[in-house]
Amino acid sequence: MLAKLLMIPGPINFDHEVVRAMSKMTCSHIAPEFREIFGDTLKKLKEVFISEGQPFVIAGSGTLAMEMAATNVIQRGEKALVVNNGVFGDRFVDIFKAHGIDVDQIQTEWGKAADPAEIREKLESDDYKVITITHVDTSTGIANDLEAIGNVVKDFDTLYIVDAVCSLAGQRLYQDKYHVDVCLSGSQKALGVPPGLALLCFNQRALDAHAKLKQPVECFYTSVNNWLPIMQAYENNMPSYFATPAVNLIFALHESVNQILAEGMEVRFARHEKLAAMMRKGLTDMDFKLVPENGCAANTMSAVYHNGITDAEFRGQLSQEGVIVAGGLGRLKGKIFRVGHMGSINENDICATLGAIQRTLDLF
Ligand code: PMP
Repeated sequence: MLAKLLMIPGPINFDHEVVRAMSKMTCSHIAPEFREIFGDTLKKLKEVFISEGQPFVIAGSGTLAMEMAATNVIQRGEKALVVNNGVFGDRFVDIFKAHGIDVDQIQTEWGKAADPAEIREKLESDDYKVITITHVDTSTGIANDLEAIGNVVKDFDTLYIVDAVCSLAGQRLYQDKYHVDVCLSGSQKALGVPPGLALLCFNQRALDAHAKLKQPVECFYTSVNNWLPIMQAYENNMPSYFATPAVNLIFALHESVNQILAEGMEVRFARHEKLAAMMRKGLTDMDFKLVPENGCAANTMSAVYHNGITDAEFRGQLSQEGVIVAGGLGRLKGKIFRVGHMGSINENDICATLGAIQRTLDLF
């Protein structure tokens, strides 16, 4: 069977060397060779988050990373503010509620980015321990302006948590420069590693907030207390154990992070920017309308309204043409399709996708 192009917003088509790294014989999680690989990966991840903070890599998906962020710096009786642009804002609200934390929201119209002035006003109106925002909302394809929002949040005591599941290592993001206290992601998107790893980077302010919590955290597997010594031990090439790391996924992550840094973060951001512009131009030339309004479209994926062909017919035929794209989420289900353009993709992948979409349109 001929492999199809997997152009959904994660998981994506992974680089062969990354997949090959994953297929190495599994070793002990405390073996010297693994300690060296994991330690080197953690050190290099700081260059990917562009932060001096403490990276954490644990087995799980992006949602687990959200939950780890949400449960380690805020507790019952404190208030969270969720900037909600779509499905993944809703998810943060649900996570806080599940942990008994009071949550307020700023809801933007779907397709619009958050307004920093509105965020300032809201932060002035109450005492929020944390604010969360989705960098690239995968349900609408918008990218929020993390830098402008960071410049607002830094004027408050509020901790700035960013969901970078659909952006880290693709969409421009400098954790420290943007004053982000906790940045979180998943392996399966622009980081270019098969699903199964939750990644976070806590800066010192977030670690201090964790240390100052008045009650014990209401989580166990995701407790920073349990993982911090483990991450530090790996960085220092020391054997340690709390829960077994996903050894082979970390082999893959190591290879991918090496590739990312060999390309260079700036070059990588620029490549994603260029490929996203190419994709958007191709789609709008075919008379498609994008979900994001006013220049806030993300560089890692596009959300696109269907024009005349049903979702099932469109995506079914496109798959026959060799390209898989995703359907809509939440209230956009059936109305849009979503194309991922992140990771190790190139211009040929964009052209192949646009060509397959054109062939699909020609059939209806
Ligand atoms: N946040 C965003 C922005 C996402 O795109 C996703 C996954 N699509 C998640 C969180 C949840 O990640 P996961 O599915 O890996 O749990």
